[in-house]
This record gives sequence, C-alpha cells and structure tokens, in this order.
Amino acid sequence: MTDVWEYAPAPESRDVVDLRSEYGLFIDGEFVEPAAGGAFKTVNPATEEVLAAVAQADATDVDRAVTAARRAQTEVWGPMPGAQRAKYLYRLARVLQERARELAVLETLDNGKPIKESRDVDVPMAAAHFFSHAGWADKLDHAGYGLDPRPLGVAGQIIPWNFPLLMAAWKLAPALATGNTTVLKPAETTPLTALLLGEILQQIDLPPGVVNIVTGAGETGRALVEHPGVDKIAFTGSTSVGKQIQRALAGRPTRLTLELGGKAANIIFDDAALDQAVEGIVNGIFFNQGHVCCAGSRLLVQESVLEPVLDKLKRRLGTLRVGDPLDKNTDLGAINSSEQLARITELVDSGVEQGADRWQPDCALPDRGYWFAPTVFTGVSQSHRIAREEIFGPVLSVLTFRTPDEAVTKANNTPYGLSAGVWTEKGSRILWMAQHLRAGVVWANTFNRFDPTSPFGGYKESGFGREGGRHGLAHYLAV
Ligand code: NAD
Repeated sequence: MTDVWEYAPAPESRDVVDLRSEYGLFIDGEFVEPAAGGAFKTVNPATEEVLAAVAQADATDVDRAVTAARRAQTEVWGPMPGAQRAKYLYRLARVLQERARELAVLETLDNGKPIKESRDVDVPMAAAHFFSHAGWADKLDHAGYGLDPRPLGVAGQIIPWNFPLLMAAWKLAPALATGNTTVLKPAETTPLTALLLGEILQQIDLPPGVVNIVTGAGETGRALVEHPGVDKIAFTGSTSVGKQIQRALAGRPTRLTLELGGKAANIIFDDAALDQAVEGIVNGIFFNQGHVCCAGSRLLVQESVLEPVLDKLKRRLGTLRVGDPLDKNTDLGAINSSEQLARITELVDSGVEQGADRWQPDCALPDRGYWFAPTVFTGVSQSHRIAREEIFGPVLSVLTFRTPDEAVTKANNTPYGLSAGVWTEKGSRILWMAQHLRAGVVWANTFNRFDPTSPFGGYKESGFGREGGRHGLAHYLAV
C-alpha cells in the first residue's frame, strides 16, 4: 500500500485583497461610471460567492476609451522616446512584483485556480513579460525592423478568463513597448485583476489614456472590434469567436492577430523516462484545471509502454488534491464558471456514450462551487468528440501508436495546431518530430513551458500571429 500524506489545511489569507463592492471602467487614467450605468456580477467559482459588481461597457464607453487612447498615442506615448517608455514598463513590472501576493490572491478568488499557480506562475510571468519588453522599447531601431519602425496606433485587445492577468500582460507589454496605446477588454468572468492593474497604472503615473480597460461580455468586445478608430485587434479566445472577428474585419485595414483554441498531442515514446513523462502528462492537462489553450489533452502513447504509463499515471492522479483554491496544498482548483462546467460535462458524457472508458481517482469534491474531478479516457478512437474537440477542462483522452510516422499522422489529425509535446531519449527523433508536427510550439521532454522571449502562437484553427519575443513585437509595428 502506498502511504498517502494527510495535509493540514494551509489557506492563504484573503485579507491582503481590498475588494470593492463596485468597479467602474478605467478610461483616460480614471475609474468612471459607464454611460448607460449597467453592471454585471463576478463570482468566486469555488464558492459561488458574489465578489463584486463590475461596470458593463457599451459602444459609447468603448468610443470614449478609443478616443482617449488615440489622443494619448498621438500626443504623449507615440512621440515619447523608447528609453522613456521603458522606464514605465520597468516600473510596472516592479510594482507587479511588490504587489504579487495581492494579485495572486485576487486572481485565485476570481478565477478559481490554485494559489500556488497564481503565485508561482501567473503573477511572476506577468512581471517577467513587462521586464522583457521594457528591454526592447529603446532598441527597436536596431532590432531588424528597418530604420525608425512606427507603432500602428491604437490596439483593441480582447482576452479570455483562463490566465486573466498574464494574458493582459502578454497583450499590453508588446503594444506599449512599441509605442501603441490600448483598449483592453478582460473576460466577463475574471475582470478583477485587470481592474487592479488599472490601479497599479495610476500608482506608476502612466500617462492617462495609454491603457484603457473596458469590462463587459461579448457585446463589449464586439463594439471594440467594430470601432473604426482601432488600428489593430489582438484577440485570445475561442476559435468560433476568432472566426466572427475575422469576418467582421474583412475588407478593413485593421491589423489582426488571433490566438485561439487547441487540442495538443503529448507523445510518449517507449524509450522516454516514464516517471518524468508522467509528471509532464499531469502538468500538460491538469495544470490550471486544463483551462489551457495549449494543454496536452490528447495523450499519444507508444503501444509497448501503454500499461506502465497508465499505471503510473493513475497512481499519480490518486495523489492530486482537489479543492479550496486558496489552500497552498491544492493541485486542482475550481472550474471557472457554471457554463464551462456544463460544457466539460457534456463532452465527457459524449465520450462515455461513444464508447470510451472513463476513469477518475477517488476524490471528494466540495458541495458548493463548480468542480470536476480529474478524468482519463482510454479506449478512445480518433473519431470520438473527446479526441477532436477542445474540452478546456481536466480531461485527458489516451490514444496509442506504433511508429513515429503514425504518431505524427495522429498528432496532426486535428483542425488545431497550437502545441505538442515529445518524450524520448533520442535527440534525432525530437528534431524529426518537431519538423513534422504542425504545431506552433513543440516541447521536448517538458510541457507548458513559457518564456517572454519565445514566440507563442498557432497554425490552422489555432490562429495566426505570434506573441512574445521579437516575433510578437512585429505585430505592433508598421513594418
Ligand atoms: P471566448 O472566445 O468565449 O471569449 C474570449 C473573449 O472574447 C472574452 O473576453 C469575451 O468576452 C470576448 N468575446 C466574446 N464574444 C465576442 C465577440 N463576438 N466579439 C468580440 N469579443 C468577444 O473564449 P473563452 O471561453 O473566454 O476562452 C477560452 C478559449 O480561449 C479557449 O478556446 C482557449 O483555447 C482559448 N485560449 C487561447 C489562447 C492562445 O494563446 N491561443 C490562450 C488562452 C485561451
């Protein structure tokens, strides 16, 4: 019998967060009331507690934000020397570090992700993104974009709920470093860290209008996309909304980058270090409850090692702790919303109906809030919906292969192309696989590794454009 350690509760205190009951829109450096006065509620998905009422921006508010961004771009931020812009970005990065605990607790309350992830991944990586891009701001003339590369102007930036602060950082850092101003629209279920970021922008004295934050649901995003004063739309979210945006912008000069969904293959060869590979499988699909666009949601295992991989995986999953996201020992937190929980449940039910075998470890789920136990499907065929559609939850579909060719064919048999993982001891095989996999990112003997200097983005229905590094900057420059 394996010993399972009992952990005493180790909750992070939420006292560090000064939660307000109402939040306005952040326009032209101030928090303001929305024109029509509408509001929506944001809840803690782990408890269903209402956290705050947040202003609902309509087309009038979006217009105000775009006007403020335009003025700030032409009068202040665009003409400002890059070295000066860099100072603001460094300052912002340092304040994110100083207020890291507050940001991490607020992210966990609003999103449901485990505090150890918001504390160790989301917030430090958001700061790292600003540090990295601050270093570019004064070097753009020498970065291979030609002489005197120009910003595009005003960027409209729309982000999802899975990494709220981090996605805001991915969007804002390259736009600001290159001299653009922005109107950011956070997701409707997770607006709070973006609004705290607005307070931090006031704290660092960022000139008014350089960053504007409009909260609301799809209609607010649509108003931003349709605004004629926006020079570029950067969107991260679902493939279906990405397609709608592409249609809305057809025939207009607005630049567009799309970071969309994924259905990544995580491929385990029989010579891989299996214990490490199992850690990579767990990280690949259960990190952030599987709410990860590049999650390794399709596990491809070489047939000869299927049994030991599944044995080790199930044993490991039995040790995962699911529950209170504010507890420092929690591995899997809450599903972000009741809608997302319903979507996961529907897809998992379809897996059972279509004949795959579902396995879940013994784990008690809290009574209140939105929860889903870690789930592994075996006996999956490529035609099953759980092998084709993005589930965006803690659900792994296991398939097998015999040869590297078969692994590549199966891995590429998807409309998506965001990421892939390869586990093998053979360097030559890693290179061969990386050449043949149609994915924007290929990880070798690791998974879900991110770095602000490394471009991230997809092929096919995973979108186009890259975020991060030199490649990401180019999408905000008139080159
Ligand atoms: P979503 O597309 O429903 O929403 C994303 C954002 O778009 C939200 O802010 C939403 O309010 C807004 N929106 C909705 N309808 C809109 C419209 N018609 N016009 C403009 N904006 C609109 O996606 P989601 O459920 O929030 O996020 C999950 C999806 O995001 C998954 O498919 C995931 O793979 C993807 N994602 C991709 C990446 C990446 O880098 N490729 C990263 C994170 C998430």
